[in-house]
Amino acid sequence: VAALTGAGISTDSGIPDYRGPNGVWRTDPDAEKLVTWSYYMADPEIRRRAWKVRQAAAERRVEPNAGHRALVDLDRAGVPVRVLTQNVDGLHQAAGLPDGKVLELHGSSREFLCVSCGARGPMAEALDRVAAGEPDPACEECGGILKSTTVMFEEPLDSRALAEAKAVAAASDVFLAVGSTLQVHPAAGLVDVALLGGARVIVVNAERTPYDAMAERVVREPISEALPALVRELLNAPQSRS
Ligand SMILES: [Zn+2]
Repeated sequence: VAALTGAGISTDSGIPDYRGPNGVWRTDPDAEKLVTWSYYMADPEIRRRAWKVRQAAAERRVEPNAGHRALVDLDRAGVPVRVLTQNVDGLHQAAGLPDGKVLELHGSSREFLCVSCGARGPMAEALDRVAAGEPDPACEECGGILKSTTVMFEEPLDSRALAEAKAVAAASDVFLAVGSTLQVHPAAGLVDVALLGGARVIVVNAERTPYDAMAERVVREPISEALPALVRELLNAPQSRS
């Protein structure tokens, strides 16, 4: 089972859907600059604001919800599960999925990266430096600009992660598309790959997606209810393919 997950799976954990009707990018026109490569690289003030936002995000206690836990149940029941996620919140891992089973297509907010030398480390370390009075901490190895590993606008996706995601989609028997509008790549392309590979595609999303007509099933119920029910079904169904 491959599960492609988008912002919708985390809204029940209190993480706003940035693109949704009440999304941050609709209410603060400047917010988009904080996650846009050219602004971030050029303007120390933008970086200082971005670090404050990261600090605030880290202080919010967010817990995985029943949707995340359902995928862990599937995995623990012995069904091979891979999660391909557009989210950067780490909630699949927090729910109990091993790191190796989660492919983070848009990076992670739990890790920082130096744009000059590629040094990486836990976000908590960088945030400690912010709290200690460095509003825009520089790389300790080379003095370069630090950011989270989250992919920004204008920044390419990690081509290795993308290639692996395509391989997972192609090999899947069941492809769950959960909480993603499936309107942007790579999400949309991964559904195509799964369909070409002969997977049963199930869409779980509150709003219509361009793939509804091609899906075996479309579920509109809230994800934290719909996904546990789907997982129970998958576990009870006789294995038609192996
Ligand atoms: Zn560096």
